[in-house]
Amino acid sequence: NIVIDAHNISKVYNPETIPVYAVNNIHLHLQEGEFTALVGPSGSGKTTLLNLIGGLDKPDHGNIYINGTDITKLSARKLIEFRLHNIGFVFQSFNLIPVLTAKENAEFILLLQGVKRAERDKRVLQLFTEIGLVEKMKVRPAQLSGGQQQRVAVARALASKPRFILADEPTANLDSVAALHLLDLMEALNQEEQVTFLFSTHDPRVINRARRVITLVDGSIASDSAVVSTSAPH
Ligand code: ADP
Ligand code: ADP
Repeated sequence: NIVIDAHNISKVYNPETIPVYAVNNIHLHLQEGEFTALVGPSGSGKTTLLNLIGGLDKPDHGNIYINGTDITKLSARKLIEFRLHNIGFVFQSFNLIPVLTAKENAEFILLLQGVKRAERDKRVLQLFTEIGLVEKMKVRPAQLSGGQQQRVAVARALASKPRFILADEPTANLDSVAALHLLDLMEALNQEEQVTFLFSTHDPRVINRARRVITLVDGSIASDSAVVSTSAPH
């Protein structure tokens, strides 16, 4: 049951001047229920790859199938709609809207989807129970710690019940206690609700918790713990 199937995808920045091959002919399969880390040096293409798989950016070459739909073939409008229902995003900078409360931030996508008030309230209360922040629902992001803001960002990503979550350095701005707390939350969602995760990270403690580790170097997959290497060491 393949969730994500990226076929020979490439992304070149500045093709007209000094081309940067940010993602270079990558092939990637992710199965449902995976908890996979994307690692590699700064500039190796992690953010670009996550943006391509999440449909935030289009590849120059290749196809990306998510649950059977080739997202590279969707119109801009259809792509937004597809993302809304299928993919959750968590960014390192949280990206919460400062003038909205924690609850309003989390239910924003549900408003866009036209979900009715009673259902929104029910779902958001359930999410804040899961992230352990029921008592902070009415508070604005600035009054929350970094770890609490990131947990709200996870709640927001989960609100539309996506089966697949992409996270770009979700623990980068968190202290170690908050980082491990967030990992516990992600792992619980993965194990209890089979939500598929693909997250980039530099943090060795986060890498340790992944069940599969994919390493990017210069826009290519240098190693993948799910693939047994057949080449001789050198
Ligand atoms: P990582 O997330 O691993 O740090 P990125 O995907 O951010 O890597 O970047 C991969 C490469 O693409 C880097 O060389 C980076 O400088 C370049 N790059 C990323 N975004 C852009 C952009 N919008 N315009 C030009 N070059 C970019
Ligand atoms: P990270 O390494 O955490 O992915 P970066 O600092 O490399 O973050 O990039 C932050 C943002 O700047 C990204 O949105 C990326 O697309 C953009 N960016 C990175 N490198 C370049 C570049 N050479 N030219 C233009 N934009 C870039």
